[in-house]
Amino acid sequence: MATLTLRRKLEILADAAKYDASCASSGGRKRDSRDGQGIGAINGMGVCHAYTPDGRCVSLLKILLTNFCVFDCAYCINRLSSNVERARFSVEEVVRLTLDFYKRNYIEGLFLSSGVIRSADYTQEQLNLVAKTLRETHGYRGYIHLKIVAGASPELATEAGFYADRLSVNVELPDETALARLAPEKTPGEIKRAMGVVRLGIEGGKGRSYTGKTARVFASAGQSTQMIVGADAATDTEILARSESLYGSYGLKRVYYSAFSPIPDSSAALPSERPHLMREHRLYQADWLMRFYGFEREEIASAAPGGMLDPALDPKLAWALANRDRFPVNVNRADRELLLRIPGLGVKAVNRLIGVRRHKRLTLEDLRRASGGLKRVRPFVTTADWSPGGLTDSETLSARLAGAAKAAEPHQLTLF
Ligand code: SF4
Repeated sequence: MATLTLRRKLEILADAAKYDASCASSGGRKRDSRDGQGIGAINGMGVCHAYTPDGRCVSLLKILLTNFCVFDCAYCINRLSSNVERARFSVEEVVRLTLDFYKRNYIEGLFLSSGVIRSADYTQEQLNLVAKTLRETHGYRGYIHLKIVAGASPELATEAGFYADRLSVNVELPDETALARLAPEKTPGEIKRAMGVVRLGIEGGKGRSYTGKTARVFASAGQSTQMIVGADAATDTEILARSESLYGSYGLKRVYYSAFSPIPDSSAALPSERPHLMREHRLYQADWLMRFYGFEREEIASAAPGGMLDPALDPKLAWALANRDRFPVNVNRADRELLLRIPGLGVKAVNRLIGVRRHKRLTLEDLRRASGGLKRVRPFVTTADWSPGGLTDSETLSARLAGAAKAAEPHQLTLF
């Protein structure tokens, strides 16, 4: 096999990493005390931009250690039987690349995953060694997101947490029977065990030891996971049920939804078409409603006929249209929980309105200022100077708002 240049390896292994959506560097303890400079804008290979929940854009070098893999997961471009060009970085090469990019201010951190080489333990050792060398030999204080290879020993998963800010174990598919069919070498038990180890590490890292010393920091930005959407028959509500259980059982920071990408020479067990990106986007919105807006999963499901979220309406609007007896809401009297259910009002807008109404009665203009637009809000509220009358119950409201929502949606919805 011809020796690949570092540049060619970077091309191959950055491209191979793009299918993993499970990275966003939210919530991590800032390790970089060197400077307050911004991040240089580059078009370099392997640099992805991830947005944190507070809107900050961070740049990560997102690569695989290798795309060789001894597993044969049907949905994965890097599976054993796939006919792709293979490459492998050495630990030293990843360390050097990360430091070079970091010092040039191209990146704020590293996202490192890998195909499985030799065994889960060996692969995890190599990933850990990259992080350990960066931290201990080079004093690197940037962000690190490491993948935990399901099946690796608990000791190695724990070691990873002492060097990485975030860890992720991918559950891959929402349906465990589909996982057994499409990824026969993986078991749900191993995946859950790995997530459990990370959870224990995170909880242990928050406390103090029996001597009263602060415990060693462990994955301060928590753990996340990724689910592939559209590779199996799971409906949106089944996917949300799985997410709900994962958030509850493992204290995840985020579940990432990644629309299945058809791959060359794929198995007949897989769909030939990629699901519409809007499906991914609606799942993110529904996930957000469950975590930050007080919605129960069953409420979202009640407005998702056949278990599928409406691609034309965001799930909050779909719920409001299905529950018109709950509206209009008097924004001068309603509590925060109810205000959060009004379509078009986000958490920031609601907080702002609660602040304003301490001093005056809210008008439509106050809502416009807080939310940036009134089209979706107007049918669902009463203010000091507005009552929607029959608008809330209008039969054509759904079609009108679907049109408005479509115009407001970005055309291409991706995570990064
Ligand atoms: S173990 Fe990971 S890299 Fe290997 S085939 Fe499965 S999904 Fe792809």
